[in-house]
Amino acid sequence: MPTESDEETPTVPVVCSECETRTRVPLPDVAESIERHNEGLHDGEEHAEVDPELAEHLADIVAEEMGLV
Ligand SMILES: [Zn+2]
Repeated sequence: MPTESDEETPTVPVVCSECETRTRVPLPDVAESIERHNEGLHDGEEHAEVDPELAEHLADIVAEEMGLV
């Protein structure tokens, strides 16, 4: 369904519990961005992640779009 923000890349909030940071990352770059952050700042430990609240919400959206709901 077309929206006004159709041309904009959606961003998702990424939080790092260790750095206590919260940044918005373009959706296509999320996985890479999180990996790079954890690799570069935390020796590969998984501290940064998609905002858990949104991740839950996102899972719902994805499930809906895949016709699972
Ligand atoms: Zn961090």
